[in-house]
Amino acid sequence: MTSAAAARIDLHAHSTASDGTLSPAELVGAAADAGLDVVAITDHDTTAGWDAAVRALPPGLTLVRGAELSCRWYGVEPAIPLHLLAYLFDPTEPELVAELARVRLAREERGERIVRLLQADGIDVSWREILAGAAGGTVGRPHIAQALIRAGLVATTTEAFGPDWLGERYRLPKEDIDVFRAVELVRAAGGVPVFAHPRASRRGRIVPDELIVELAAAGLAGLEADHEDHSPAERAHVRGLAAELGLLVTGSSDFHGTHKTVRLGAHTTAPEAYERIVAAASGVTPVASG
Ligand code: AMP
Ligand code: FE
Ligand code: FE
Ligand code: ZN
Repeated sequence: MTSAAAARIDLHAHSTASDGTLSPAELVGAAADAGLDVVAITDHDTTAGWDAAVRALPPGLTLVRGAELSCRWYGVEPAIPLHLLAYLFDPTEPELVAELARVRLAREERGERIVRLLQADGIDVSWREILAGAAGGTVGRPHIAQALIRAGLVATTTEAFGPDWLGERYRLPKEDIDVFRAVELVRAAGGVPVFAHPRASRRGRIVPDELIVELAAAGLAGLEADHEDHSPAERAHVRGLAAELGLLVTGSSDFHGTHKTVRLGAHTTAPEAYERIVAAASGVTPVASG
């Protein structure tokens, strides 16, 4: 890293190991091109991209190995889905490995059910084609969105996530990880859990602050404040809550390649918050190339 004051740190990015469009190797290359000093690879429910990202790491870039866990809060009916970023955890910890595998399977089951719903309405999409599009990575609705685009039914991913399509009419829940169990598993694996885009109400229902208070007591380390799905008021609210609870605050692009318009480094994390994450982790270390 260059001088701490100048460091540019983006702690949330996706590759083809889930629903991003750049391979892990391309992702770290793009991160260096974007002038980042630190980038985290945080694919949905998988660590499959880690090794390729490490092998391709350009000089001067530090890689934080992570994942974004699909969680759910069961304190209300129906339960509310949420995303937990997990950094620097041991990727061989058996319980966490098993839970991630279970969620990836649940994603496939849900994807197939969504496809059947679409087909029942006479929409010509095939599950086989969607799986091929995911190319072995964690399957998500962005892959189904691509099939809708290819079929000429919608023009953009954003439109595919609208209420007539995957946002509501053809939206089905999946069997996520109980969020308290996820925090516990990540900590047990030496990782650091950070709540991703906690106030992103435009994606759907959000959890109350009371839950975040409970999660902080259960081991949550931080909150992602600067994110494109948060308004300025929502960012300020998240910062205030983090200050009250002693949680660290991150900012990140949540880059997905061409599946979203946001660019790498569009939002960044302060070096102090990054240092707190590194200090709290005992699973794996950040990797810097030679
Ligand atoms: P899933 O994980 O299958 O439920 O799909 C959620 C993923 O879809 C998120 O991680 C984003 O990558 C993407 N996504 C959600 N909402 C939108 C949106 N409005 N436009 C584009 N991508 C979205
Ligand atoms: Fe995603
Ligand atoms: Fe997310
Ligand atoms: Zn994400």
